[in-house]
Amino acid sequence: MTDLNKMYASMGIGDAVYEYGSKILEKLKKRFDEIDETAEYNQLKVVRAMQECRVSEACLVGTTGYGYNDLGRDTLEEVYAKVFHTEDALVRPQITCGTHALALALSGNLRPGDELLSPVGRPYDTLEEVIGIRPSRGSLAEYGVTYRQVDLLPDGGFDFDKIRRSINQRTRLVTIQRSKGYQTRPTLSVARIGELIAFIKSIRPDILCMVDNCYGEFVETAEPGDVGADMTVGSLIKNPGGGLAPIGGYIAGTKECVENAACRLTSPGLAKEVGASLGVLKDLYQGFFLAPTVTAAALKAAVFAANLYEPLGFAVVPDSSESRHDIIQAITFGRPDAVIAFCQGIQAGAPVDSHVTPQPWDMPGYDAQVIMAAGAFVSGSSIELSADGPIRPPYAVYFQGGLTWQHAKFGILKSLQALLDGGIVSEEALRLGAV
Ligand SMILES: *Cc1c(COP(=O)(O)O)cnc(C)c1O
Repeated sequence: MTDLNKMYASMGIGDAVYEYGSKILEKLKKRFDEIDETAEYNQLKVVRAMQECRVSEACLVGTTGYGYNDLGRDTLEEVYAKVFHTEDALVRPQITCGTHALALALSGNLRPGDELLSPVGRPYDTLEEVIGIRPSRGSLAEYGVTYRQVDLLPDGGFDFDKIRRSINQRTRLVTIQRSKGYQTRPTLSVARIGELIAFIKSIRPDILCMVDNCYGEFVETAEPGDVGADMTVGSLIKNPGGGLAPIGGYIAGTKECVENAACRLTSPGLAKEVGASLGVLKDLYQGFFLAPTVTAAALKAAVFAANLYEPLGFAVVPDSSESRHDIIQAITFGRPDAVIAFCQGIQAGAPVDSHVTPQPWDMPGYDAQVIMAAGAFVSGSSIELSADGPIRPPYAVYFQGGLTWQHAKFGILKSLQALLDGGIVSEEALRLGAV
């Protein structure tokens, strides 16, 4: 046994799991090199933006009260706009989460009588109440904004004919979700998002295209703003916060779209001028600086998990070899006990709260019970190693994050160990899978 071997053994990873994991990893060197190269490009992109915007020590200090002339806040928004290749950005601790950022982008840019179109199928669960697909207090539907949806084709392609027929005079905004979210459809690449935006603009150039970029930031060298998105929206407790942002969301887009969203966040007339940054700016800057390499760690984790579980007979999306456009790995177990064991294994590998055992519960915004593993420094952060699964068929877990690759590897091995200990996979399967 090597020292490393012994270290894993002391932390509950048995020989069978360790050996199997090592065999799988040997095959992933080239993939990992490619991920590192993307991270290198994106690291330079972020540093260049920070230099060009003249980020200074004074930017790291926050304001209180109204927050007028907050240099750090305004400069950070310039940095985001440069990196996402947009005219402007709204990056605020007052944006409480990704859903809030998306709700601001939508409600700020839609007016009564307008129609919202999703040409990529059902949106993320929490947006159903924002839009009013599931009736909810304060939804867009209550304000007279209607919604239409075109599903992806069975092969994951865009249904261009149906999209064309669904666009009418009232269509004002198109929402494109990059990541699969809680579905097993493929995630959209930035190139495919560009193709869809070009198609929509060819029908009516004045239709606004918004991309829900959650989990997609820094996975590729391009972002939706590079392919014509009017708004790119996401959460700071996912990729762009780099694990350090304690809260926040962003909307990067055209001047007008960002101004409209800011009028919703603060107030008409005040828009971006108010909003004290308090003490969080240093973490937002440093987190953004770290985000490319943190995203790379999370991406390696997702690739490793796919390659680990696929040979054991579980359906994985994306599969072990396909290209990646977000950091989420879906693994379909087909049985609830496996979803629970997987999440409990991830939790047992966490730096925080490793001693607690997660259970399924009714979460606000979701229509089924959900089990979540999140032993995170920032509560609910899903750029940190985390897993969640709605307890409903097909009993899939959605696994994401990992601030360091080394920690993510440990957590994933813990999940497999939990499945082995629970009798859901056998040592025999690990031996067969390793060949
Ligand atoms: C996480 C996520 C959201 C919502 O973000 P929260 O911070 O959980 O509110 C929206 N869309 C997608 C695709 C997401 O992954």
